[in-house]
Amino acid sequence: MRKTVLALMAALIASPSWSDTLIQNINGIQVGTDGKIEQFDALLIGDNGRVINIFRPEADYAVPTGANVIDGGGHTLLPGLIDAHGHVLGLGFSALQLDLVGTSSLDDLKKRLRAYATAHPDARWILGRGWNQELWPVKQFPTAADLDSVVSDRPVVLERVDGHAVVANSAAMKAAGVTPETKSPPGGRIENGLFVDNAIELVSKAVPPATAAESDQALAKAQDILLSYGVTGVGSMSTSLADWNAMRRAGEAGRLNVRLMVYADALGLLGEVPNPTDWLYRDRLRMVGIKFYADGALGSRGAWLKQPYSDKPETRGLQFHSDAEMFQLAEMAAAHGFQIATHAIGDAANAQVISTYEQLTKKYGTNRRWRIEHFQIADPADIPRLAPAGIIASMQPTHQTSDRLMAEKRLGPNRLAGAYAWQTVLKSGAKLAFGTDFPVESSNPFPGLSAAVSRQDMEGQPPGGWIPAERVTFEQALQAYTRGAAFAGFAEDKIGSLEPGKWADFVIVDRDPTKVDPQSLARTQVLETWIAGKKIWERAPSAGTERGR
Ligand SMILES: [Zn+2]
Repeated sequence: MRKTVLALMAALIASPSWSDTLIQNINGIQVGTDGKIEQFDALLIGDNGRVINIFRPEADYAVPTGANVIDGGGHTLLPGLIDAHGHVLGLGFSALQLDLVGTSSLDDLKKRLRAYATAHPDARWILGRGWNQELWPVKQFPTAADLDSVVSDRPVVLERVDGHAVVANSAAMKAAGVTPETKSPPGGRIENGLFVDNAIELVSKAVPPATAAESDQALAKAQDILLSYGVTGVGSMSTSLADWNAMRRAGEAGRLNVRLMVYADALGLLGEVPNPTDWLYRDRLRMVGIKFYADGALGSRGAWLKQPYSDKPETRGLQFHSDAEMFQLAEMAAAHGFQIATHAIGDAANAQVISTYEQLTKKYGTNRRWRIEHFQIADPADIPRLAPAGIIASMQPTHQTSDRLMAEKRLGPNRLAGAYAWQTVLKSGAKLAFGTDFPVESSNPFPGLSAAVSRQDMEGQPPGGWIPAERVTFEQALQAYTRGAAFAGFAEDKIGSLEPGKWADFVIVDRDPTKVDPQSLARTQVLETWIAGKKIWERAPSAGTERGR
Protein backbone atom coordinates (compact mmCIF):
# COMPACT_ATOMS: atom_id res chain seq x y z
CA MET A 1 0.00 0.00 0.00
CA ARG A 2 2.75 2.39 1.06
CA LYS A 3 4.76 1.45 -2.00
CA THR A 4 1.86 2.41 -4.25
CA VAL A 5 1.40 5.78 -2.57
CA LEU A 6 5.11 6.49 -2.95
CA ALA A 7 4.95 5.41 -6.56
CA LEU A 8 2.02 7.74 -7.09
CA MET A 9 3.83 10.65 -5.46
CA ALA A 10 6.92 9.96 -7.55
CA ALA A 11 4.78 9.85 -10.65
CA LEU A 12 3.12 13.14 -9.76
CA ILE A 13 6.45 14.83 -9.12
CA ALA A 14 7.74 13.48 -12.40
CA SER A 15 4.74 14.80 -14.26
CA PRO A 16 3.09 17.66 -12.36
CA SER A 17 -0.01 18.55 -14.25
CA TRP A 18 -3.40 19.95 -13.47
CA SER A 19 -5.10 18.14 -16.26
CA ASP A 20 -4.37 14.55 -15.45
CA THR A 21 -7.35 12.21 -15.64
CA LEU A 22 -8.23 9.62 -13.03
CA ILE A 23 -10.75 6.97 -14.03
CA GLN A 24 -12.08 5.35 -10.86
CA ASN A 25 -14.51 2.59 -10.06
CA ILE A 26 -13.51 0.35 -12.94
CA ASN A 27 -13.01 -3.38 -13.27
CA GLY A 28 -9.61 -3.13 -14.95
CA ILE A 29 -8.29 -6.32 -16.53
CA GLN A 30 -5.07 -6.90 -18.42
CA VAL A 31 -2.28 -9.43 -18.78
CA GLY A 32 0.71 -8.68 -16.57
CA THR A 33 4.36 -9.19 -17.46
CA ASP A 34 4.11 -12.64 -15.87
CA GLY A 35 1.35 -13.68 -18.29
CA LYS A 36 -1.27 -13.73 -15.52
CA ILE A 37 -4.42 -11.63 -15.30
CA GLU A 38 -3.75 -8.38 -13.47
CA GLN A 39 -6.69 -6.43 -12.01
CA PHE A 40 -6.95 -2.76 -11.17
CA ASP A 41 -9.71 -0.42 -10.16
CA ALA A 42 -8.35 2.96 -11.17
CA LEU A 43 -6.26 4.34 -14.01
CA LEU A 44 -4.35 7.64 -13.88
CA ILE A 45 -3.57 9.23 -17.24
CA GLY A 46 -1.27 12.21 -17.83
CA ASP A 47 -2.31 15.08 -20.06
CA ASN A 48 0.33 13.81 -22.50
CA GLY A 49 -1.94 10.83 -23.20
CA ARG A 50 0.28 8.33 -21.41
CA VAL A 51 -0.42 6.12 -18.44
CA ILE A 52 0.91 7.49 -15.13
CA ASN A 53 -0.14 4.44 -13.15
CA ILE A 54 -2.81 1.84 -12.46
CA PHE A 55 -4.04 1.12 -8.95
CA ARG A 56 -4.92 -2.29 -7.70
CA PRO A 57 -8.11 -3.09 -5.80
CA GLU A 58 -6.31 -3.12 -2.46
CA ALA A 59 -4.33 0.04 -3.13
CA ASP A 60 -4.98 3.03 -0.99
CA TYR A 61 -4.40 5.79 -3.46
CA ALA A 62 -5.14 9.48 -3.13
CA VAL A 63 -6.96 11.46 -5.79
CA PRO A 64 -4.34 13.83 -7.20
CA THR A 65 -5.17 17.49 -6.63
CA GLY A 66 -6.80 19.06 -9.64
CA ALA A 67 -7.18 15.81 -11.53
CA ASN A 68 -10.18 15.36 -13.74
CA VAL A 69 -11.98 12.46 -12.02
CA ILE A 70 -14.23 10.14 -14.02
CA ASP A 71 -16.50 7.51 -12.49
CA GLY A 72 -16.17 4.35 -14.57
CA GLY A 73 -19.50 3.08 -13.27
CA GLY A 74 -18.00 -0.29 -12.38
CA HIS A 75 -17.56 -1.21 -16.05
CA THR A 76 -14.82 -3.49 -17.30
CA LEU A 77 -11.79 -1.74 -18.83
CA LEU A 78 -9.29 -3.56 -21.06
CA PRO A 79 -6.15 -2.39 -22.88
CA GLY A 80 -6.94 -1.47 -26.49
CA LEU A 81 -7.03 -4.61 -28.60
CA ILE A 82 -4.38 -5.00 -31.28
CA ASP A 83 -5.11 -6.96 -34.42
CA ALA A 84 -1.79 -8.38 -35.58
CA HIS A 85 -2.99 -9.00 -39.12
CA GLY A 86 -5.60 -6.97 -40.98
CA HIS A 87 -6.09 -5.24 -44.28
CA VAL A 88 -7.04 -1.70 -43.33
CA LEU A 89 -7.91 -0.15 -46.68
CA GLY A 90 -9.45 -3.47 -47.73
CA LEU A 91 -11.77 -3.23 -44.74
CA GLY A 92 -12.82 0.29 -45.72
CA PHE A 93 -13.26 -0.49 -49.41
CA SER A 94 -15.18 -3.68 -48.73
CA ALA A 95 -17.51 -1.81 -46.39
CA LEU A 96 -18.22 0.55 -49.28
CA GLN A 97 -18.59 -2.29 -51.85
CA LEU A 98 -21.24 -4.90 -52.55
CA ASP A 99 -21.26 -7.07 -49.44
CA LEU A 100 -21.65 -10.77 -50.23
CA VAL A 101 -20.66 -12.16 -46.82
CA GLY A 102 -23.16 -14.77 -45.70
CA THR A 103 -24.81 -15.30 -49.09
CA SER A 104 -26.84 -18.47 -48.66
CA SER A 105 -26.94 -19.57 -52.31
CA LEU A 106 -26.08 -18.55 -55.87
CA ASP A 107 -29.60 -17.06 -56.14
CA ASP A 108 -28.95 -14.97 -53.04
CA LEU A 109 -25.72 -13.67 -54.60
CA LYS A 110 -27.62 -12.75 -57.79
CA LYS A 111 -30.33 -10.99 -55.80
CA ARG A 112 -27.80 -8.86 -53.90
CA LEU A 113 -25.94 -8.06 -57.14
CA ARG A 114 -29.18 -6.93 -58.82
CA ALA A 115 -30.10 -4.69 -55.87
CA TYR A 116 -26.62 -3.11 -55.73
CA ALA A 117 -26.52 -2.50 -59.51
CA THR A 118 -29.92 -0.76 -59.32
CA ALA A 119 -28.82 1.33 -56.33
CA HIS A 120 -25.51 2.36 -57.98
CA PRO A 121 -26.39 3.22 -61.59
CA ASP A 122 -23.28 5.43 -61.92
CA ALA A 123 -20.68 2.90 -60.72
CA ARG A 124 -18.47 2.19 -63.74
CA TRP A 125 -17.41 -1.14 -62.27
CA ILE A 126 -19.32 -3.18 -59.73
CA LEU A 127 -16.96 -4.64 -57.15
CA GLY A 128 -18.00 -6.94 -54.38
CA ARG A 129 -16.56 -9.46 -51.98
CA GLY A 130 -17.34 -12.09 -49.41
CA TRP A 131 -19.08 -14.98 -51.21
CA ASN A 132 -18.28 -18.51 -50.11
CA GLN A 133 -19.72 -21.35 -52.17
CA GLU A 134 -18.93 -23.74 -49.30
CA LEU A 135 -21.94 -22.24 -47.48
CA TRP A 136 -24.31 -22.87 -50.39
CA PRO A 137 -26.57 -25.93 -50.86
CA VAL A 138 -24.84 -26.54 -54.22
CA LYS A 139 -21.14 -26.02 -53.46
CA GLN A 140 -20.23 -24.92 -56.98
CA PHE A 141 -18.16 -21.89 -57.89
CA PRO A 142 -20.19 -19.12 -59.59
CA THR A 143 -19.45 -18.49 -63.29
CA ALA A 144 -19.31 -15.56 -65.70
CA ALA A 145 -22.63 -16.70 -67.18
CA ASP A 146 -24.26 -16.53 -63.73
CA LEU A 147 -23.22 -12.89 -63.41
CA ASP A 148 -24.07 -12.03 -67.04
CA SER A 149 -27.64 -13.10 -66.38
CA VAL A 150 -27.91 -10.24 -63.85
CA VAL A 151 -25.52 -7.52 -65.11
CA SER A 152 -24.16 -7.48 -68.65
CA ASP A 153 -23.84 -3.75 -69.42
CA ARG A 154 -20.79 -3.07 -67.22
CA PRO A 155 -17.96 -5.02 -65.61
CA VAL A 156 -18.59 -6.99 -62.40
CA VAL A 157 -15.81 -8.57 -60.28
CA LEU A 158 -16.73 -10.41 -57.10
CA GLU A 159 -14.05 -11.66 -54.71
CA ARG A 160 -14.33 -14.86 -52.72
CA VAL A 161 -14.36 -14.44 -48.91
CA ASP A 162 -10.68 -15.48 -48.58
CA GLY A 163 -9.48 -13.15 -51.34
CA HIS A 164 -7.92 -16.09 -53.22
CA ALA A 165 -10.45 -16.25 -56.06
CA VAL A 166 -12.65 -13.83 -57.98
CA VAL A 167 -15.51 -14.36 -60.42
CA ALA A 168 -15.86 -11.89 -63.30
CA ASN A 169 -18.65 -11.29 -65.81
CA SER A 170 -18.07 -11.16 -69.56
CA ALA A 171 -17.84 -7.35 -69.62
CA ALA A 172 -15.04 -7.45 -67.02
CA MET A 173 -13.14 -10.13 -68.95
CA LYS A 174 -13.56 -8.10 -72.15
CA ALA A 175 -12.22 -4.97 -70.43
CA ALA A 176 -9.28 -7.03 -69.15
CA GLY A 177 -8.57 -8.55 -72.57
CA VAL A 178 -9.18 -12.09 -71.29
CA THR A 179 -10.33 -14.48 -74.05
CA PRO A 180 -11.00 -18.24 -74.12
CA GLU A 181 -7.40 -18.56 -75.39
CA THR A 182 -5.91 -16.87 -72.32
CA LYS A 183 -3.70 -19.38 -70.49
CA SER A 184 -3.64 -19.82 -66.71
CA PRO A 185 -0.43 -18.34 -65.29
CA PRO A 186 1.86 -20.41 -63.03
CA GLY A 187 0.31 -20.56 -59.56
CA GLY A 188 -3.15 -19.74 -60.84
CA ARG A 189 -6.11 -21.04 -62.83
CA ILE A 190 -9.03 -19.79 -64.90
CA GLU A 191 -12.34 -21.62 -65.32
CA ASN A 192 -15.64 -20.16 -66.63
CA GLY A 193 -14.96 -16.67 -65.34
CA LEU A 194 -13.42 -17.84 -62.05
CA PHE A 195 -9.85 -16.62 -61.47
CA VAL A 196 -7.85 -18.33 -58.74
CA ASP A 197 -4.71 -17.00 -56.98
CA ASN A 198 -2.10 -15.83 -59.52
CA ALA A 199 -4.79 -15.64 -62.22
CA ILE A 200 -6.70 -12.96 -60.28
CA GLU A 201 -4.37 -10.26 -61.53
CA LEU A 202 -5.40 -10.94 -65.14
CA VAL A 203 -8.77 -9.38 -64.41
CA SER A 204 -8.06 -7.20 -61.35
CA LYS A 205 -5.45 -5.16 -63.25
CA ALA A 206 -8.26 -3.78 -65.44
CA VAL A 207 -10.17 -2.36 -62.47
CA PRO A 208 -9.60 1.40 -62.42
CA PRO A 209 -7.50 2.29 -59.35
CA ALA A 210 -9.21 4.04 -56.47
CA THR A 211 -8.80 7.80 -56.46
CA ALA A 212 -7.04 9.46 -53.51
CA ALA A 213 -10.41 10.70 -52.30
CA GLU A 214 -11.85 7.17 -52.43
CA SER A 215 -8.84 5.85 -50.46
CA ASP A 216 -9.28 8.57 -47.84
CA GLN A 217 -12.95 7.65 -47.55
CA ALA A 218 -12.05 3.96 -47.16
CA LEU A 219 -9.45 4.64 -44.45
CA ALA A 220 -11.93 6.77 -42.50
CA LYS A 221 -14.58 4.05 -42.80
CA ALA A 222 -12.10 1.38 -41.66
CA GLN A 223 -11.14 3.40 -38.58
CA ASP A 224 -14.81 3.86 -37.64
CA ILE A 225 -15.36 0.11 -37.81
CA LEU A 226 -12.20 -0.76 -35.86
CA LEU A 227 -12.87 1.77 -33.11
CA SER A 228 -16.42 0.43 -32.66
CA TYR A 229 -14.87 -2.98 -31.95
CA GLY A 230 -12.25 -1.66 -29.54
CA VAL A 231 -9.31 -2.16 -31.91
CA THR A 232 -6.72 0.56 -31.27
CA GLY A 233 -3.76 -0.92 -33.17
CA VAL A 234 -3.33 -3.00 -36.32
CA GLY A 235 -0.57 -4.86 -38.14
CA SER A 236 -1.54 -3.48 -41.53
CA MET A 237 -0.74 -6.19 -44.06
CA SER A 238 -0.06 -6.02 -47.81
CA THR A 239 -0.07 -2.23 -47.79
CA SER A 240 0.19 -0.66 -51.25
CA LEU A 241 1.78 2.68 -52.03
CA ALA A 242 -1.69 4.19 -52.48
CA ASP A 243 -2.69 2.82 -49.04
CA TRP A 244 0.49 4.17 -47.44
CA ASN A 245 -0.10 7.59 -49.01
CA ALA A 246 -3.66 7.63 -47.65
CA MET A 247 -2.28 6.79 -44.19
CA ARG A 248 0.26 9.60 -44.48
CA ARG A 249 -2.43 12.08 -45.53
CA ALA A 250 -4.60 11.04 -42.58
CA GLY A 251 -1.62 11.40 -40.22
CA GLU A 252 -0.74 14.86 -41.55
CA ALA A 253 -4.34 15.98 -41.15
CA GLY A 254 -4.64 14.56 -37.63
CA ARG A 255 -7.28 12.07 -38.80
CA LEU A 256 -5.30 8.94 -37.97
CA ASN A 257 -6.47 7.51 -34.67
CA VAL A 258 -5.82 3.77 -34.88
CA ARG A 259 -2.09 2.95 -34.59
CA LEU A 260 -0.81 1.23 -37.71
CA MET A 261 2.25 -1.02 -37.89
CA VAL A 262 2.60 -1.24 -41.62
CA TYR A 263 3.85 -4.14 -43.78
CA ALA A 264 4.42 -3.21 -47.42
CA ASP A 265 3.01 -5.40 -50.16
CA ALA A 266 6.11 -7.33 -51.29
CA LEU A 267 9.01 -5.20 -52.56
CA GLY A 268 6.72 -2.72 -54.33
CA LEU A 269 7.40 0.18 -51.97
CA LEU A 270 11.20 -0.17 -51.73
CA GLY A 271 11.66 2.73 -54.15
CA GLU A 272 9.52 5.07 -52.01
CA VAL A 273 10.23 3.70 -48.53
CA PRO A 274 13.64 1.99 -48.67
CA ASN A 275 13.91 1.31 -44.92
CA PRO A 276 11.62 1.05 -41.89
CA THR A 277 10.46 4.51 -40.82
CA ASP A 278 10.41 5.98 -37.33
CA TRP A 279 7.06 6.20 -35.63
CA LEU A 280 5.13 9.14 -37.09
CA TYR A 281 2.29 11.33 -35.81
CA ARG A 282 2.69 10.60 -32.09
CA ASP A 283 3.14 6.87 -32.67
CA ARG A 284 0.17 6.47 -35.03
CA LEU A 285 2.04 5.14 -38.06
CA ARG A 286 5.21 3.23 -38.82
CA MET A 287 6.46 1.28 -41.81
CA VAL A 288 7.98 -1.72 -40.11
CA GLY A 289 8.14 -4.63 -42.53
CA ILE A 290 7.42 -6.37 -45.80
CA LYS A 291 4.81 -9.02 -46.48
CA PHE A 292 5.38 -11.94 -48.83
CA TYR A 293 3.24 -14.91 -49.87
CA ALA A 294 4.47 -18.50 -49.89
CA ASP A 295 1.18 -20.05 -51.06
CA GLY A 296 -2.57 -19.54 -51.49
CA ALA A 297 -5.44 -20.57 -49.24
CA LEU A 298 -7.14 -23.82 -48.32
CA GLY A 299 -10.65 -22.96 -49.61
CA SER A 300 -9.52 -22.60 -53.22
CA ARG A 301 -6.99 -25.47 -52.80
CA GLY A 302 -4.18 -22.96 -53.23
CA ALA A 303 -2.51 -23.85 -49.91
CA TRP A 304 0.71 -25.76 -50.66
CA LEU A 305 0.67 -29.14 -48.93
CA LYS A 306 3.35 -31.79 -48.38
CA GLN A 307 0.88 -34.50 -49.44
CA PRO A 308 -2.01 -34.31 -51.97
CA TYR A 309 -5.38 -32.84 -51.07
CA SER A 310 -7.69 -35.50 -49.67
CA ASP A 311 -10.60 -34.22 -51.78
CA LYS A 312 -8.54 -33.66 -54.95
CA PRO A 313 -5.62 -36.10 -55.01
CA GLU A 314 -4.19 -34.73 -58.25
CA THR A 315 -3.02 -31.51 -56.56
CA ARG A 316 -0.84 -30.43 -53.64
CA GLY A 317 -1.83 -26.79 -54.08
CA LEU A 318 0.25 -23.86 -55.28
CA GLN A 319 3.90 -23.24 -54.53
CA PHE A 320 4.49 -19.53 -55.17
CA HIS A 321 8.31 -19.45 -55.07
CA SER A 322 11.22 -21.84 -55.36
CA ASP A 323 13.30 -22.11 -52.18
CA ALA A 324 16.03 -19.98 -53.77
CA GLU A 325 13.54 -17.30 -54.87
CA MET A 326 11.92 -17.16 -51.44
CA PHE A 327 15.30 -16.74 -49.79
CA GLN A 328 16.31 -14.00 -52.23
CA LEU A 329 13.13 -12.02 -51.56
CA ALA A 330 13.46 -12.35 -47.81
CA GLU A 331 17.17 -11.55 -47.85
CA MET A 332 16.52 -8.39 -49.88
CA ALA A 333 13.94 -7.21 -47.33
CA ALA A 334 16.13 -8.14 -44.36
CA ALA A 335 19.14 -6.34 -45.82
CA HIS A 336 17.04 -3.16 -45.93
CA GLY A 337 16.34 -3.57 -42.22
CA PHE A 338 12.72 -4.66 -42.59
CA GLN A 339 10.86 -7.17 -40.50
CA ILE A 340 9.41 -9.92 -42.69
CA ALA A 341 5.88 -11.31 -42.53
CA THR A 342 5.21 -14.23 -44.85
CA HIS A 343 1.80 -15.72 -45.58
CA ALA A 344 1.97 -19.52 -45.29
CA ILE A 345 -1.09 -21.76 -44.95
CA GLY A 346 -0.15 -25.27 -46.10
CA ASP A 347 2.38 -27.46 -44.28
CA ALA A 348 4.79 -27.39 -47.24
CA ALA A 349 4.65 -23.58 -47.39
CA ASN A 350 5.20 -23.32 -43.64
CA ALA A 351 8.22 -25.63 -43.82
CA GLN A 352 9.70 -23.57 -46.66
CA VAL A 353 9.25 -20.30 -44.78
CA ILE A 354 10.72 -21.73 -41.57
CA SER A 355 13.79 -22.91 -43.52
CA THR A 356 14.14 -19.46 -45.09
CA TYR A 357 13.96 -17.76 -41.69
CA GLU A 358 16.41 -20.27 -40.17
CA GLN A 359 18.96 -19.20 -42.76
CA LEU A 360 18.28 -15.50 -42.14
CA THR A 361 18.61 -15.99 -38.38
CA LYS A 362 22.18 -17.23 -38.84
CA LYS A 363 23.03 -13.87 -40.36
CA TYR A 364 20.71 -11.45 -38.53
CA GLY A 365 20.10 -13.06 -35.12
CA THR A 366 16.79 -13.96 -33.48
CA ASN A 367 15.42 -10.49 -32.69
CA ARG A 368 14.34 -9.62 -36.21
CA ARG A 369 11.01 -11.17 -35.24
CA TRP A 370 10.36 -13.04 -38.48
CA ARG A 371 6.63 -13.62 -38.73
CA ILE A 372 4.58 -16.36 -40.34
CA GLU A 373 1.11 -15.12 -41.19
CA HIS A 374 -1.66 -17.68 -40.58
CA PHE A 375 0.49 -20.77 -39.90
CA GLN A 376 -2.75 -22.70 -40.40
CA ILE A 377 -1.62 -26.17 -41.36
CA ALA A 378 1.76 -27.15 -39.94
CA ASP A 379 3.51 -30.48 -39.90
CA PRO A 380 3.75 -31.15 -36.12
CA ALA A 381 7.44 -31.93 -36.70
CA ASP A 382 8.02 -28.35 -37.86
CA ILE A 383 6.42 -26.51 -34.92
CA PRO A 384 9.45 -26.91 -32.57
CA ARG A 385 11.56 -25.12 -35.21
CA LEU A 386 9.79 -21.78 -34.60
CA ALA A 387 11.21 -20.70 -31.24
CA PRO A 388 14.93 -21.32 -31.91
CA ALA A 389 14.74 -19.08 -34.99
CA GLY A 390 12.74 -16.41 -33.13
CA ILE A 391 9.75 -16.91 -35.43
CA ILE A 392 6.39 -15.45 -34.40
CA ALA A 393 3.21 -17.32 -35.35
CA SER A 394 0.63 -14.70 -36.33
CA MET A 395 -2.66 -16.59 -36.24
CA GLN A 396 -6.39 -15.86 -36.53
CA PRO A 397 -8.70 -17.81 -34.22
CA THR A 398 -11.84 -17.18 -36.29
CA HIS A 399 -10.20 -18.84 -39.31
CA GLN A 400 -10.38 -22.06 -37.32
CA THR A 401 -14.10 -21.78 -36.59
CA SER A 402 -14.89 -20.70 -40.17
CA ASP A 403 -12.70 -23.32 -41.84
CA ARG A 404 -13.00 -26.46 -39.75
CA LEU A 405 -15.45 -28.42 -41.95
CA MET A 406 -13.63 -27.39 -45.12
CA ALA A 407 -10.26 -28.21 -43.52
CA GLU A 408 -11.49 -31.70 -42.63
CA LYS A 409 -12.43 -32.29 -46.27
CA ARG A 410 -9.28 -30.83 -47.78
CA LEU A 411 -6.90 -32.58 -45.35
CA GLY A 412 -8.72 -35.74 -44.31
CA PRO A 413 -8.81 -36.99 -40.72
CA ASN A 414 -5.11 -37.84 -40.31
CA ARG A 415 -3.56 -34.47 -41.03
CA LEU A 416 -5.26 -32.25 -38.46
CA ALA A 417 -2.72 -32.55 -35.64
CA GLY A 418 -0.88 -29.37 -36.66
CA ALA A 419 -3.99 -27.49 -37.82
CA TYR A 420 -4.68 -24.14 -36.12
CA ALA A 421 -2.48 -25.50 -33.32
CA TRP A 422 -2.35 -22.49 -30.99
CA GLN A 423 -1.65 -24.35 -27.76
CA THR A 424 1.05 -26.50 -29.37
CA VAL A 425 2.69 -23.33 -30.70
CA LEU A 426 2.70 -21.79 -27.22
CA LYS A 427 3.96 -24.99 -25.58
CA SER A 428 6.82 -25.10 -28.09
CA GLY A 429 8.00 -21.77 -26.65
CA ALA A 430 7.20 -19.74 -29.76
CA LYS A 431 5.55 -16.34 -29.56
CA LEU A 432 1.93 -16.05 -30.66
CA ALA A 433 0.08 -13.01 -31.98
CA PHE A 434 -3.64 -13.02 -32.71
CA GLY A 435 -5.70 -11.12 -35.23
CA THR A 436 -8.61 -11.55 -37.60
CA ASP A 437 -7.28 -11.06 -41.15
CA PHE A 438 -10.13 -8.57 -41.66
CA PRO A 439 -11.94 -8.19 -44.00
CA VAL A 440 -11.58 -11.94 -44.63
CA GLU A 441 -13.18 -12.32 -41.20
CA SER A 442 -15.00 -9.67 -39.18
CA SER A 443 -12.60 -7.23 -37.51
CA ASN A 444 -14.43 -7.72 -34.20
CA PRO A 445 -11.82 -9.27 -31.85
CA PHE A 446 -14.32 -10.70 -29.37
CA PRO A 447 -15.51 -13.65 -31.49
CA GLY A 448 -11.77 -14.35 -31.91
CA LEU A 449 -11.13 -14.34 -28.16
CA SER A 450 -14.14 -16.63 -27.78
CA ALA A 451 -12.95 -19.04 -30.49
CA ALA A 452 -9.48 -19.03 -28.94
CA VAL A 453 -10.72 -20.27 -25.56
CA SER A 454 -13.42 -22.63 -26.86
CA ARG A 455 -12.59 -23.81 -30.41
CA GLN A 456 -16.31 -23.18 -30.94
CA ASP A 457 -18.14 -20.73 -33.18
CA MET A 458 -20.54 -18.08 -31.93
CA GLU A 459 -23.34 -20.65 -31.78
CA GLY A 460 -21.24 -22.98 -29.62
CA GLN A 461 -20.49 -25.45 -32.42
CA PRO A 462 -19.13 -28.06 -32.27
CA PRO A 463 -20.01 -29.15 -28.71
CA GLY A 464 -16.84 -29.49 -26.66
CA GLY A 465 -14.80 -27.63 -29.28
CA TRP A 466 -12.92 -28.72 -32.39
CA ILE A 467 -9.65 -30.46 -31.34
CA PRO A 468 -10.12 -28.94 -27.87
CA ALA A 469 -6.51 -29.64 -26.82
CA GLU A 470 -5.56 -26.61 -28.92
CA ARG A 471 -7.72 -24.22 -26.89
CA VAL A 472 -5.81 -21.51 -25.04
CA THR A 473 -6.70 -19.92 -21.72
CA PHE A 474 -8.31 -16.47 -21.60
CA GLU A 475 -5.02 -15.03 -20.35
CA GLN A 476 -3.16 -16.54 -23.30
CA ALA A 477 -5.80 -15.29 -25.74
CA LEU A 478 -5.82 -11.73 -24.36
CA GLN A 479 -2.02 -11.75 -24.27
CA ALA A 480 -1.88 -12.70 -27.97
CA TYR A 481 -4.38 -9.92 -28.76
CA THR A 482 -2.52 -7.24 -26.77
CA ARG A 483 1.10 -7.74 -25.66
CA GLY A 484 1.75 -10.48 -28.24
CA ALA A 485 0.43 -8.41 -31.13
CA ALA A 486 2.41 -5.36 -29.92
CA PHE A 487 5.60 -7.45 -29.71
CA ALA A 488 4.97 -8.79 -33.21
CA GLY A 489 5.00 -5.18 -34.45
CA PHE A 490 8.03 -3.99 -32.41
CA ALA A 491 5.65 -1.80 -30.36
CA GLU A 492 5.69 -3.47 -26.93
CA ASP A 493 7.35 -0.42 -25.35
CA LYS A 494 4.40 1.76 -26.42
CA ILE A 495 1.20 -0.31 -26.44
CA GLY A 496 -0.26 -3.69 -25.48
CA SER A 497 -0.70 -3.00 -21.76
CA LEU A 498 -1.49 -0.11 -19.41
CA GLU A 499 1.80 0.59 -17.67
CA PRO A 500 3.56 3.81 -16.67
CA GLY A 501 4.87 5.55 -19.77
CA LYS A 502 2.84 3.58 -22.31
CA TRP A 503 -0.01 5.11 -24.26
CA ALA A 504 -3.38 5.20 -22.53
CA ASP A 505 -5.13 3.18 -25.24
CA PHE A 506 -8.04 1.26 -23.73
CA VAL A 507 -11.64 0.17 -24.12
CA ILE A 508 -14.61 0.00 -21.82
CA VAL A 509 -16.86 -2.99 -22.45
CA ASP A 510 -20.28 -4.16 -21.30
CA ARG A 511 -19.24 -7.39 -19.54
CA ASP A 512 -16.36 -8.99 -17.66
CA PRO A 513 -14.74 -11.35 -20.17
CA THR A 514 -13.24 -13.45 -17.37
CA LYS A 515 -16.68 -14.19 -15.92
CA VAL A 516 -18.82 -15.10 -18.94
CA ASP A 517 -19.14 -18.19 -21.11
CA PRO A 518 -17.53 -18.23 -24.58
CA GLN A 519 -20.80 -17.46 -26.41
CA SER A 520 -21.32 -14.39 -24.24
CA LEU A 521 -17.65 -13.39 -24.61
CA ALA A 522 -18.12 -13.41 -28.40
CA ARG A 523 -20.99 -10.93 -28.02
CA THR A 524 -19.10 -8.44 -25.86
CA GLN A 525 -20.02 -4.88 -26.82
CA VAL A 526 -17.56 -2.03 -26.68
CA LEU A 527 -18.99 1.04 -24.93
CA GLU A 528 -16.05 3.43 -25.31
CA THR A 529 -12.70 3.42 -27.09
CA TRP A 530 -9.88 5.69 -25.89
CA ILE A 531 -6.58 6.37 -27.63
CA ALA A 532 -3.75 8.41 -26.07
CA GLY A 533 -5.98 9.27 -23.11
CA LYS A 534 -8.81 10.65 -25.22
CA LYS A 535 -12.24 9.15 -25.75
CA ILE A 536 -12.54 8.94 -29.50
CA TRP A 537 -15.46 6.56 -29.92
CA GLU A 538 -18.57 6.00 -27.86
CA ARG A 539 -21.52 3.69 -28.47
CA ALA A 540 -24.63 5.71 -29.18
CA PRO A 541 -27.20 5.00 -26.48
CA SER A 542 -30.05 3.12 -28.12
CA ALA A 543 -33.21 1.84 -26.44
CA GLY A 544 -31.27 1.12 -23.25
CA THR A 545 -30.14 -2.33 -24.36
CA GLU A 546 -26.51 -1.60 -25.16
CA ARG A 547 -25.36 -0.77 -21.68
CA GLY A 548 -27.22 -3.64 -20.09
CA ARG A 549 -25.84 -7.08 -19.59
ZN1 LIG B 1 -4.32 -11.33 -44.80
